[in-house]
Amino acid sequence: NGVLRSADIMDTRYPVKGLYVWLPYGLRLRNHVLSLIKQLLEQTGHQEVLFPLLIPEDIFKKEAEHIRGFEGQVYWVTHGGLDELDVKLALRPTSETSMYPMFALWIRSHADLPVKVYQVVNIFRYETKMTKPMIRLREVTTFKEAHTAHATWDEAEAQVLEAVKIYKRFFDKLGVPYVVTKRPPWDTFAGAKYSVAFDTLAPDGKTLQIGTAHNLGQNFAKVYGLKFETLKGKHQHVYQTSYGMSERVIAALMMTHGDDTGLCLPPIVAPIQVVVVPIPFKGREAPVDHVAKVVTDELATVGVRVHLDDRDLRPGEKFYYWERRGVPLRLEVGPEDVKKDQVTAVRRDTAEKQAILRRELRVKVEQLLYDINANLRERAWKSFKEMIHEAADVETIKRTLEKKGGIVRVPWCEQEACGTSLEERTGADILGQELEGKPASGICPICSKKAKNYVLMAKTY
Ligand code: ZN
Repeated sequence: NGVLRSADIMDTRYPVKGLYVWLPYGLRLRNHVLSLIKQLLEQTGHQEVLFPLLIPEDIFKKEAEHIRGFEGQVYWVTHGGLDELDVKLALRPTSETSMYPMFALWIRSHADLPVKVYQVVNIFRYETKMTKPMIRLREVTTFKEAHTAHATWDEAEAQVLEAVKIYKRFFDKLGVPYVVTKRPPWDTFAGAKYSVAFDTLAPDGKTLQIGTAHNLGQNFAKVYGLKFETLKGKHQHVYQTSYGMSERVIAALMMTHGDDTGLCLPPIVAPIQVVVVPIPFKGREAPVDHVAKVVTDELATVGVRVHLDDRDLRPGEKFYYWERRGVPLRLEVGPEDVKKDQVTAVRRDTAEKQAILRRELRVKVEQLLYDINANLRERAWKSFKEMIHEAADVETIKRTLEKKGGIVRVPWCEQEACGTSLEERTGADILGQELEGKPASGICPICSKKAKNYVLMAKTY
């Protein structure tokens, strides 16, 4: 919370619980993160759409399982002005029920398939647990949800795997480490056949779910009448998937790379990648200011997000100001630098200092930004992997999670009763089975039967 304020990301003082205000710097960060995921979706044939916020009650309540999963969390619009509405309107908690009746109008034949669309919208959920900026919200401001429809079950399965691949590439670009698991049946998205989820770790050792992908099978298609004519002239229900993520990704980004000074942003999404700070000495201001300006302009013309800090403050204050905001690279220009035709570069991630000759400026700055991205990613994965432990009995699971936090890998017989008992007896949650897990060995800690699989367990947000 301190970083949200000190780095000008968000103001948490809005007078409605679970709602927060994005500040300009935070919003720019959000938009860079969004453009990365949008780019990956567009490259894989997804098209952006924008659906209304309101969903009529009768349509919303058609899919029984889905509504059971969400009914305690829905905000309802009951009045228009002074009139009570005949049909209450839900503020979308997610958009399956707003989109699919429209899909039913669009899909006629096999030629209309697959449908692959996405939108980035706000959604509302009446959270009863303690709310937390970016993590547990009543208005999720940045919900990226993709929805697809296919002719066959296999195509829908393949689509879930494509979603996983897209999300992996996305988190790799951000340098946010993750595990990917198939959620257990009792933790599957309401109305889905199965759910796959990405979890990362917060610094306190708890996991944070940062993305999900669901195979919806034909559940929604049957309820909303999504049918297509096959090549042979038969009418069949489509198979569907949906996958989403939210501003939790930005929380994860901040928690993963930040340090005691504040934010530390990967250049790929940093609102300002390079800050130029002139360090004037009495009587030598003019040449220093001039070079600082030229350096800034030169980087701007090659597309670097660069900012010249020419405020009337001491350089030390400026350094600290931009370090708190996580700017990846600082270029200092002092009288010595001017004399030697160089600038002094300081990395935010390692605090390393180096001189860069002016004629090598572009190449060296681009190289440094690339290196910072890579270093942040490697550093994050290294400490993440150190937080994945093995445990084969209830006591060890408990002790490991209490002492070290993180994630434990546990052999499991795949029986639901043993799964829920594991959760009860350890006070931790089962994330699920690793999507590309190693083959099982050992016995289930509850029933002592041979394990069929490993599950990952953790304390979760
Ligand atoms: Zn068992």
